[in-house]
This record gives sequence, C-alpha cells and structure tokens, in this order.
Amino acid sequence: MSTQHSTPAQGTVQPDQHRGSCLCGAVRYAVTGAFERFYLCHCTHCRKDSGSAHAANLFSSTARLDWIAGEDHVRRYRLEGTRHQRCFCASCGSALPCADNGMLVVPAGSLDSPLARRPDAHLFIASCAPWDHELAGLPQFESFPA
Ligand SMILES: [Zn+2]
Ligand SMILES: [Zn+2]
Repeated sequence: MSTQHSTPAQGTVQPDQHRGSCLCGAVRYAVTGAFERFYLCHCTHCRKDSGSAHAANLFSSTARLDWIAGEDHVRRYRLEGTRHQRCFCASCGSALPCADNGMLVVPAGSLDSPLARRPDAHLFIASCAPWDHELAGLPQFESFPA
C-alpha cells in the first residue's frame, strides 16, 4: 500500500483497471491488474465483519492498489490471533481493499466498475448461518416489496 496519494499513469493502456469507493465517497481507489481468485467466505469472522451471510472478496498477488482520495480515512483492524483483517472507511465503515504480505484483498461490493467474473467458490461452508441455504429460491423483488 503506498503511503502517498498517487494516480495510475494517464494515457497508457490499462487492460485490467478497476475503480472503487466507500459508501460516503470519502475514499476512492484504483486497482490495476488481474484478480486471481474471487471467494465468498462464510466463516464466523467474515460473517461478523460483513454483518451478512458471507464476505465477497477478490484476491490478487500482482495487482497494484492506488488510493485516489481519502487514504487518511482508511483504517485497518486485525483480529488478534488470526489472519483475519479488514480495512474500512473511518467515516462510514465501508469495507475497503487491504494489502498485506504481498496479497491484495478487494471487497467486491466496494467496486464501482463492472466486474465480469463470477465467484470461484464458497469457503467455510461448515460455518454457514443456519438461514444461509437455498437463498436463490426465495421470492425476488426489483426493489422493495409492493
Ligand atoms: Zn466512507
Ligand atoms: Zn472468512
């Protein structure tokens, strides 16, 4: 993670360029490079962390992360005794990319640019919430139910 604000080089071809931001808009970032894995993790840490059924994270060992705005808002939480960590916006709490030990982890929901690839796998299925099964079969609404 760079400690200074930087923007990707302009005018060059960016075959794998992704953009993302937090909910309040204070933090914006760019990721240049390819994602190698896309996992939905149902472990207890990711469930607490996300407040949902699972985390949805993209992984890359080669992509570069550039903070475009609000890097001073980025906070990192490490869960003691585990490898679990999370980066988030100090203002709105939204999940943000985390770089550590040569691996970049990008929360898929934080991306603003369209993502073509589908998740590769569900992880830690044994830790699923009791209500987390056959969710695709639930009634579906375009927005709020009428
Ligand atoms: Zn924010
Ligand atoms: Zn997890």
